[in-house]
Amino acid sequence: MKKNGVVYLVGAGPGDPGLITQKGLKRLGSCDALVYDSLASDYFLDEVPDHCRKIYVGKRAGAHSMKQEEINRLLVELAEEGLNVVRLKGGDPFVFGRGGEEILTLSEAGITFEVVPGVTSAVAALSMAGIPVTHRAVSRSFHVMTGHTLSENGTLPPDFDSFAKLSGTLVFLMGLSNLSLIVNGLIKNGKPEDTPAAVIENGTLPEQRIIRGTLNDIESRAKQAEIKSPAIIVAGDVAALDFSSTLNLPLKGCRIGITGTQSFTGRLHRELAELGGMTDSVLSLSIDSYRSGQAMNEAYQRLQTYSWLLFTSANAVREFFTGLFEGGYDLRSLGAVRFAVVGKGTENELVKYGFHADYIPDRYQVIDLAKGLKPLLSKEDRLLIPRSSGGSPELNRVLDEAGICYDDIVLYDVALKKKEQEELGNALLPLHYLTFASASGVEGFFQGETEKILGLLSRLKVVCIGDITAKALSRYGREADLIAPVYSISGLAEIICQDWCKEKE
Ligand code: SAH
Repeated sequence: MKKNGVVYLVGAGPGDPGLITQKGLKRLGSCDALVYDSLASDYFLDEVPDHCRKIYVGKRAGAHSMKQEEINRLLVELAEEGLNVVRLKGGDPFVFGRGGEEILTLSEAGITFEVVPGVTSAVAALSMAGIPVTHRAVSRSFHVMTGHTLSENGTLPPDFDSFAKLSGTLVFLMGLSNLSLIVNGLIKNGKPEDTPAAVIENGTLPEQRIIRGTLNDIESRAKQAEIKSPAIIVAGDVAALDFSSTLNLPLKGCRIGITGTQSFTGRLHRELAELGGMTDSVLSLSIDSYRSGQAMNEAYQRLQTYSWLLFTSANAVREFFTGLFEGGYDLRSLGAVRFAVVGKGTENELVKYGFHADYIPDRYQVIDLAKGLKPLLSKEDRLLIPRSSGGSPELNRVLDEAGICYDDIVLYDVALKKKEQEELGNALLPLHYLTFASASGVEGFFQGETEKILGLLSRLKVVCIGDITAKALSRYGREADLIAPVYSISGLAEIICQDWCKEKE
């Protein structure tokens, strides 16, 4: 009999992807199915293994969201299929998250589960906005209430008066549409009109907005600013404090869409997050490997006959060495071969396997690799070029013209995971920049209705890693707004930083 899987109820944190717990991230990294609803960031979707089944159960424009009972049942079914499931929820799973109902169903069905707590927005959105939930001599307690059920019949619940009378910090989740009822209810129950109040929209995210005021004017201020959900309402003396971070990272407030293979977007994400930016993965490319196919097998067997190995991407390096070791070979089979790589990222990958590159072109492009390498080669040389099927033909042209003998072998293919048009539109909306790191990324992105996709790009800046990528973009009728002069992740990050700082001036 098949063993049931385990269900992990994981809190994703309040929005900023950096605020998930280590344990949560670890569970994501090893699950077979992910059940999630609307999240502030789709970063987590890239953290699951390639084979993981991702099931969206949240609200989507024009479509019904799944009922809670259906979600409960789905979790049981997935676990009964033997899958380890992560049920990812915003904030902490039990803070107005209906996590308890899911647990009850799981335990009735005898499914093993684990709860991984999350950082709740009820505390973190305030902290990030500079409002401490408690503060010595100001507030000795904090109390969290849902504002959602308040006006089911347009009246306050019977215990609201005792809630209003509490002296500590009062926090309302899901209360924005009932802001008027909340504010008036508090005043009616004895809170002074000049009690400090605040509304925090999109807490912990780049687009976070904070409206401050008093119970008297917070409603009109929030209306004027057109504050939208998700938002948290705070009432109490701490709402007048401002302990927001004074560390201003260069990409603070900046949201960047990234495209590329999972390992590339992972590295780009880390670099941009270090600089204070937030990333969304807009299109991801995955690797279909042929490292154990016949062509590569033969290449591994005759490795000693090559004098140069050329790598045009970090993926190629990784796939090549993985295949080498899986085939039972080790580094000795490489003998005295020399290495040429297209750029820094590729060399960094090569160094991980214990080799420095013998040649890197000044400009990190395949054509420069070919041209720069040519004078170093003679007719006796034999080159092995294990790369993707979409590799640049420029390399072959230059080598053919020079009469150099080489084997260009397909080591992997790049497959595309792209959002549907409507989802893509929503994903692009909050972005300030969209990055492309390869021509194949551009081509993948424009598959579908080019005109509509171009329309989606009108409000943001498109950043390309190099001229070839920018040229691929202009073939679709869009010029790059920025081109990284150094064709690397840090080159991309740097040009975005420069531009963002100029924008803010
Ligand atoms: N379990 C979640 C809360 C779910 S209820 C948690 O622990 O945070 C959803 C409500 O949470 C929203 O209506 C809003 O009031 C609040 N919320 C969640 N994330 C938020 C954010 N980033 N900024 C402001 N409010 C947020």
